[in-house]
Amino acid sequence: MSHEALITTLKQLRLHGMAQTLQELAQQGGPRYHEALPLMDLLLKAEVAERDVRSITYQLKCARFPHYRDLSNFDFAQSAVDEALLRQLHRGDFMAERHNLVFVGGPGTGKTHLATALGVQAIRHQRRHVRFFSTIELVNALEQEKAAGKQGLLANRLAHVDLVILDELGYVPFSQAGGTLLFHLIGKLYEHTSLAITTNLSFAEWPSVFGDAKMTTALLDRLTHRCHILETGNDSYRYRHHQDIKKERHHRPVTAAN
Ligand code: ADP
Ligand code: MG
Repeated sequence: MSHEALITTLKQLRLHGMAQTLQELAQQGGPRYHEALPLMDLLLKAEVAERDVRSITYQLKCARFPHYRDLSNFDFAQSAVDEALLRQLHRGDFMAERHNLVFVGGPGTGKTHLATALGVQAIRHQRRHVRFFSTIELVNALEQEKAAGKQGLLANRLAHVDLVILDELGYVPFSQAGGTLLFHLIGKLYEHTSLAITTNLSFAEWPSVFGDAKMTTALLDRLTHRCHILETGNDSYRYRHHQDIKKERHHRPVTAAN
């Protein structure tokens, strides 16, 4: 690291006393300064790396993913999803522009896996803040905060998050009051936060979830204004996999080793 980079790094780490002393040593220009540099460089790099790891671990915890998922074990050959689009989104630029994502497809087609993988990548490689919810869990939280007279707290908190994942919209119906609360939350996040929604429903079926056709039209209007739609099809990976495993068990020849 150059002298300037060392000073900047020390300040970023809030080690202002050390930054000042290093400046003074540099100005004196004596041998002590030059002797100190290699060790200083080594120690600072170690500290930065250690804090990075700690911060990523912390952010992964805050995101509350149900399971860790990434693309390394996702088999695109077994999926209907548009791989090129998904890999482009994986780079994370969509969050800078507050674009939204909708994963639509049948159960077991990788929607939660892919949404989680994008969230994990956003934390690890783009240093973003992410929060994963099952949709019904979020609606319950909104209803509880309203009942406690604290409406708006969660929305304010989530406005500081870069990506909110709403998993399984449409699997469990919620009350019309709950639908309205979710509608208002999504409206508030619109300018600040990207949303990734996973659902088994086509857009035409959304009014049945929110319970109000006009409100749903307004919601879809906003949501799809800057939106990538990823269709995962209806062919369940989980189901197929189970079938394969069963078949394998059936046809495995009995050998002496068994
Ligand atoms: P969905 O959310 O669409 O119901 P999931 O993402 O939960 O489906 O996928 C079901 C299971 O199958 C998960 O364990 C997931 O990791 C796995 N899976 C789904 N699609 C694939 C795929 N193409 N390659 C590897 N694993 C997959
Ligand atoms: Mg799922």
